Amino acid sequence: MLTDIQKENLRAESYNAEIISFERVKDDLAIIRIKPDDENAEYSAGQFISLGIYNFERDRFGHEEAKLIKRPYSVSSPIVDNECQLWDIEYRDFYELYIVRVEDGELTPMIFNCDVGSRLFITKEAKGSYVLPKKINSDDTVIFASTGTGLAPHNSMMVELLPHLNKGKVIVFDCVRYFSELAYSQTLDKLRKQYDNLIYIPLCTREDGNKVYIQDFFVKDMLSEEYGVCIKAEKAHVFCCGNPAMIGMPKLNRSTDTYDFQFQGGLVETLMNKYNMTIFNRKTGGNIHFEKYW
Ligand SMILES: Cc1cc2nc3c(=O)[nH]c(=O)nc-3n(C[C@H](O)[C@H](O)[C@H](O)COP(=O)(O)OP(=O)(O)OC[C@H]3O[C@@H](n4cnc5c(N)ncnc54)[C@H](O)[C@@H]3O)c2cc1C
Repeated sequence: MLTDIQKENLRAESYNAEIISFERVKDDLAIIRIKPDDENAEYSAGQFISLGIYNFERDRFGHEEAKLIKRPYSVSSPIVDNECQLWDIEYRDFYELYIVRVEDGELTPMIFNCDVGSRLFITKEAKGSYVLPKKINSDDTVIFASTGTGLAPHNSMMVELLPHLNKGKVIVFDCVRYFSELAYSQTLDKLRKQYDNLIYIPLCTREDGNKVYIQDFFVKDMLSEEYGVCIKAEKAHVFCCGNPAMIGMPKLNRSTDTYDFQFQGGLVETLMNKYNMTIFNRKTGGNIHFEKYW
């Protein structure tokens, strides 16, 4: 059994950041800002940092050994400042994270017990290759497709991209179960009024009415019919983040040099079949990028 002094020592050794804002969008959904003690919050748009909290902080802690429970979280963005202007990407004082509480999860119930002033561990460097490619032309179309908190990295990328993409379109799909989970929709609606090349498409799969999934917009040509956007593979970049079933989770079959999909009918498979798009890799390029959360 750990004594209070032992716990305090472990906290002092490992916790290197503080929660400076905790906005509870719902009981199980929050936008959290975390300030590192010593460093600036450095990251490339789209990357993630890891958060850690000791297992002894949880409600029911028995005689287990102390363990720092760590998980990765994509860095989101406030998107706009108080004057409703696009967020200044040079301002790197804190990390904004967008986190859903997973019932029976190890870390997230502890995160949701935190509040402003709570201390925790964060990794010193952001990591990850789910970032904007070096070359995006100002008239390209960039599509961000997310389920739930998968919107987080897209918020950061959008802020970086919008001033540059003055002739092309930025299309943001935000697919959640209920309207109340569209945490950034008001902000994105405001931004849409300033950037007429931004198309924001919120989708709620469990509200009354027609259930529409992101894939439907491509399978059924809804993007061109409803928004007048025609996709040309050579001018498009697609980012898919969140639920593995939405992505489809391709795996290269080396013997046939084709992809097998863990889930049929996912977005990546749809884009490959319908538009001849290819999965991005640093050597060969390609226009489909994806990041799964579990
Ligand atoms: C690169 C990367 C970036 C990530 N960024 C975010 C982020 O910005 N926001 C965020 O909320 N999560 C994000 N995650 C997921 C996060 O790392 C944890 O897996 C999640 O918070 C659950 O942690 P836990 O310890 O509470 O659950 P665990 O005890 O680790 O249980 C994990 C199980 O919970 C389920 N699960 C995990 N994530 C989710 C989810 N988002 N929605 C529903 N079920 C889930 C899965 O079934 C998974 O097997 C990211 C994951 C990766 C790999």
